[in-house]
Amino acid sequence: MENTINILIDHQCPQCGAPAALCETDRLFQCAFCKVNSYLMERSYFRYLLPHHAPENQDLIYFPYWRFKGMLFSCLPDGIQHRFLDVSQQALPSVHFPLSVGLRSQAMKLRFVSPETKGYFIKPTLPFRQMMERFLTRFNRNMPGPILHQSHIGESLSLIYSPFYVGKRIIDAVLNQPTSGELDEPFELSRFAGGPADWCIQFIPTLCPDCGWDLQGRRDALVLHCKNCQSMWQPSKQGMSRVNVAHLPTPEEENTIYLPFWRIKADVTGLDLDSYADLVKVANLPKAIQPGWDRTPWYFWGPAFKIRPRSFLRLTHHITLSQPRSSLIARVPKGSMHPVNLPVSESVEALKLNLAGLLRPKKIMEDRIADIRVKPSRYLLVYLPFEKRHHDLVQPTYHIAVNQNQLGLAGNL
Ligand SMILES: [Zn+2]
Ligand SMILES: [Zn+2]
Repeated sequence: MENTINILIDHQCPQCGAPAALCETDRLFQCAFCKVNSYLMERSYFRYLLPHHAPENQDLIYFPYWRFKGMLFSCLPDGIQHRFLDVSQQALPSVHFPLSVGLRSQAMKLRFVSPETKGYFIKPTLPFRQMMERFLTRFNRNMPGPILHQSHIGESLSLIYSPFYVGKRIIDAVLNQPTSGELDEPFELSRFAGGPADWCIQFIPTLCPDCGWDLQGRRDALVLHCKNCQSMWQPSKQGMSRVNVAHLPTPEEENTIYLPFWRIKADVTGLDLDSYADLVKVANLPKAIQPGWDRTPWYFWGPAFKIRPRSFLRLTHHITLSQPRSSLIARVPKGSMHPVNLPVSESVEALKLNLAGLLRPKKIMEDRIADIRVKPSRYLLVYLPFEKRHHDLVQPTYHIAVNQNQLGLAGNL
């Protein structure tokens, strides 16, 4: 499960039409031929299809599957369990089609759905949330329970269309093999809402809205950097929106890489947790509460980069308990930066999980977690300097170590 392959996608440069192969996590695309940059924008999620090998003149039917790839954390009375998931499930219930795409989404080159694709695209009617609930209901049967809280932190959510055609049976057009026995009654496509493909991938220009310079980033970056005016931008449906950035400076820029973190301000109800003094109390930190701490705000922290689930949790807790705040400088750091490839929306999904792991004694978590609500209000992107050591990246001020392998391998998650 852990060594999931990054799916490959056939693509064409929107500028010159040159073919290109993308990875599932690619966002910033630079054409090898015309060198033009473009940013791939999803409208809520990407829609892919599996290529078919059907005989000519078959009317193709595309059946939709939700695909979720990410981390699942389950809070149990004796701790938090984690699991990496890569699952696909029918996006509408039907007995005629397979329940999932199986391993194919990993083994085959996908394509983006585009208006030129011929075929009937069945409309998904099961919302993603419901699909996930059904999946978790089955998955949780094998958990030692009771499950007090669960969060899935998605690195990608997409819709995959798989091709079929119908004769006496329903034929899988990828393998040209029947998926069912002979049909008792004629298959009526009109029972399924749908129609021709009406979706296409969107590109947005990657120019800095402030100064017109070309924005930079690694191919999987979710936040782009203007090296000219030192600003950070998040591509969105409305275009580029500015991201507020800060960093902790270091005198030792040479051997340093800045790792990005989301710092999130959120209101917690169901627990007295308004100030840093409250945080020290609920987490039972070995610190004497200092004057003024009852008026000092505290923040949730979490990595803004992909990392293995175990490290994700450890880092999230460690950095939240550390509350870096002294001498943050409100601008982009000058040294080398690790790309932001975990969106703030997913970091927000981890807030309650973060809290669940901090509460001491642990019994409090069991008693109170169901009543606790966390409502995020604003966020800041903070870069913290890490020293490059032999195997690890080390943050000397807060004593955090990140294994470089965990970071490198996470590119495939
Ligand atoms: Zn091109
Ligand atoms: Zn600029």
